[in-house]
Amino acid sequence: HDTLLEINDLRVYFYLDEGTVKAVDGVSFTVKRGQTLCVVGESGCGKSVTARAILNIVPRPGKIVDGEILLHRQKPDGQVEVIDLAALSPTGREIRAIRGAEISMVFQEPMTSFSPVHTIGSQIMEAILLHQDVTKEQARESAVDMLRRCGLPRPEHVVDQYPWELSGGMRQRAMIARALVCRPSLLIADEPTTALDVTTETQILALMRELQQELGMAILFITHDLGVVAEMADEVIVMYLGQVVERADVVSIFREPKHPYTQALLRSIPKIDRQRRKRLDTIEGMVPDPYNIPPGCPFHPRCTAFMPGLCDRLEPPVYDTGDGHLARCLLYAPELPAASDAVSTAL
Ligand code: SF4
Ligand code: MG
Repeated sequence: HDTLLEINDLRVYFYLDEGTVKAVDGVSFTVKRGQTLCVVGESGCGKSVTARAILNIVPRPGKIVDGEILLHRQKPDGQVEVIDLAALSPTGREIRAIRGAEISMVFQEPMTSFSPVHTIGSQIMEAILLHQDVTKEQARESAVDMLRRCGLPRPEHVVDQYPWELSGGMRQRAMIARALVCRPSLLIADEPTTALDVTTETQILALMRELQQELGMAILFITHDLGVVAEMADEVIVMYLGQVVERADVVSIFREPKHPYTQALLRSIPKIDRQRRKRLDTIEGMVPDPYNIPPGCPFHPRCTAFMPGLCDRLEPPVYDTGDGHLARCLLYAPELPAASDAVSTAL
């Protein structure tokens, strides 16, 4: 019963005049109840699109073209009901009942700042009144209570304030309050602290862990920052060009990363914590053009372990390197074909 969300072979493509971008190309993973799964990778790897696909809010001209997003919903009688979110209409009643209630999302500011023309309180109450059968007074009480739990001083005052009256850090706390007020079983957090200073970031991450304990929710945490991964994750998946290239528990990712891309990311972590803001885009080579994904292993032009004749010709499948530690890399093939065989199979 510990599976909450199960994604199978998800594909999200963007159909543009310039060509098709396979932003998410065959992604599979599982989020366990009450746990934190971090999705890490450089910008453009498909991590945010994956997150949006779960709530069926992929921006146009993107489209979920294949795959399943299975929500394992625990019913009060203990039975588990499985719903495929990818199969629901993006504007239908079913998905709207799930968004903001069972699954909610916080973004990096200013991506989804609150509406500037309504008070913080009315925007939190809106979420409550949409999903719960309570009076306005009860909704207001819940809003104040959640603002307090999220560490906002004088919540009964904040509830009547406008978003622009709060600092960036307080506004992010209020957004977390809005996301959690209906007690979701899954919180999707897409770079929620990237715009904040390091001190505020540390506080927000601690708050999220605290509320996770209290509410028992799972978190899908999207980040490019391995420092954040170390603080938050139970399990980690690493994405590159729309695919999952590695998956393991957090200790294994840091102690024995298997995929050359993960190894490069870890080498690129600046040693001094204060420099953590530096983007992780500093690994060798350019992120390839998403319209022209390299043949064979998409990472091969940047890979220090590149095997000519193999890596540029064979698309690596996912290998279990032991104990469920997965890596999409030919180095872990139990038997490697000779380079000359690879040429003939590819042709
Ligand atoms: Fe590097 Fe080859 Fe592994 Fe790709 S398959 S990551 S190019 S060693
Ligand atoms: Mg993003």
